[in-house]
Amino acid sequence: MKAIERDEAVRLCLEGERLSPAERERLAAERLRELVAYVREHSAYYQKAYREVGEDFRLSDLPPVTKKELMADYGAWVTDPRVTEEGVRDYVRSDEALEKLYLGKYTALTTSGTTGKPMPMVRDACHNTIHSAMIQTRLLREVDPDLMNPVRHRIASIIILDPSVSSYSGFLKMQRANPGYEKNTLAIALTEDIDEIVEKLNRFQPDLITGYPSILAVIGKAGQEGRLRIQPQAIACSAETLTEKVYHTLRGAFGCPVLNNYCSTEGGEAAMSCSGGKLHVNEDWVIIEPVDKDGRPVPEGSWSEGVYVTDLTNYVQPIIRYYMEDKVRIRGEACPCGSTLPVMEIRGREAGTIEIGGKVLFSSLFEQALEHVPGVLAVQIAQKSERRFHIRLVPSSEGEREKAAEEVKERVLGLFEKSGVRSVEVTVVPERPRPNKRGGKVKFFVKELEEG
Ligand SMILES: [Zn+2]
Repeated sequence: MKAIERDEAVRLCLEGERLSPAERERLAAERLRELVAYVREHSAYYQKAYREVGEDFRLSDLPPVTKKELMADYGAWVTDPRVTEEGVRDYVRSDEALEKLYLGKYTALTTSGTTGKPMPMVRDACHNTIHSAMIQTRLLREVDPDLMNPVRHRIASIIILDPSVSSYSGFLKMQRANPGYEKNTLAIALTEDIDEIVEKLNRFQPDLITGYPSILAVIGKAGQEGRLRIQPQAIACSAETLTEKVYHTLRGAFGCPVLNNYCSTEGGEAAMSCSGGKLHVNEDWVIIEPVDKDGRPVPEGSWSEGVYVTDLTNYVQPIIRYYMEDKVRIRGEACPCGSTLPVMEIRGREAGTIEIGGKVLFSSLFEQALEHVPGVLAVQIAQKSERRFHIRLVPSSEGEREKAAEEVKERVLGLFEKSGVRSVEVTVVPERPRPNKRGGKVKFFVKELEEG
């Protein structure tokens, strides 16, 4: 396995950002060659998959892989034969996970997908050192690099309080690693009443708040209305799409940097936000290839159907051209922040389809139509029965709720009609968007079909 010291990783991350895009591409290609040479020797799965690939190859010559294929052959995929699917699952569920590394050397977690079995994922020291150096040098560039240290700062996380969810197990690990400083950390259940959350935050006075954008939208609104009186140094969100509207609400309400992250259990931190709120791809360490539904690269500036992710840092469970359903767009534009790392936009993680009257509609269509409704910070559509839908939304202010609800309802009905779907019942209900039970993310579209 590849070893790297912390200082070296920090140096490489700083340097990587200063390179020109062409230099960075060469560097990534070199790192890819090194990783591929390693997996050919240590992973029976990749050895077989790459048997037709010559010594002098390009990324696009490597056959893409899917979660299903890799999971069917888990033991052959990983490069350390001691790592097993059951072993990782048992470890993640055990108390041991909060104190010791898996097999004494790896971090381990499982994916939080709503469909299918959660996938065990093991990361080695190389991955962990480099990804944490990227967080330090890129994500936290505008703030105190020690902001995530509870010895020095007060950290509040609004999450699902379930240890099998990685954001909460991460929180518990942070607590255990810093005994005596528990009073500087606060975990608030995502499902709590908003007035309760506001009161707890007012009492706690956090330096850093972490959570999903949908709950942070509600927090931002409470800040704007003056109910939430805190002066955080930063707000960090992840997992869901952070819209520009929520970004500016938070920035406006608290006047602090809003940190965003595009990460996955499989590939780690692939992109991080800059001072302008744009996501920059960490392409020196994680390669993102936007592709269409047939796996062909989409032209620059077009939205993709999915992406191939390659993590150049993880040697124990290698992710190379791994397909994920994220819809992204990379435009070759310069960002005002000065970074030459490419800017990426992402839309509707885990977008789904709406089946109705024999027709299949893409929920992303609705998401697009509702993206810029004035007075709406967050919105969710729930299908309660084939032709009955509930809409839950977070308005920018209570005064705007009624008007925003009308507008959202009208747009949804309009889209149904345009798609040739008639006699649907759409109701705006007085509820916040609901997180899913595993992972706690809020999806734009959810099926909540009731019996009968
Ligand atoms: Zn930027």
